Amino acid sequence: MGGMSDTRNTDSSSGSGSLSHADVTQLWAKFRAGETVHCPRDAHGIALAVDGAAKAYRLVCTKCGLASPWFSTGPSGVVFKSPPATLNPNGNAADE
Ligand SMILES: [Zn+2]
Repeated sequence: MGGMSDTRNTDSSSGSGSLSHADVTQLWAKFRAGETVHCPRDAHGIALAVDGAAKAYRLVCTKCGLASPWFSTGPSGVVFKSPPATLNPNGNAADE
């Protein structure tokens, strides 16, 4: 699957291993409020990754690697961006 690093799929019965829009909306709201956000899977701390150039954000669990898609925020709330090229098997495959 991703193959970037070791991802332990101890529970792959549901979901694709990423946070849903509803999850991200909730977590982001907490994050903005200054609260600590936790991974819904293992309750570990979640870190915020920021892409300054694209003004995009991403929530990543520091333990299990559960991550949201890149998203931006606006008046309508959290908006997922298109998946990056590295996740697209039919894109410009720089690495196969
Ligand atoms: Zn986790």
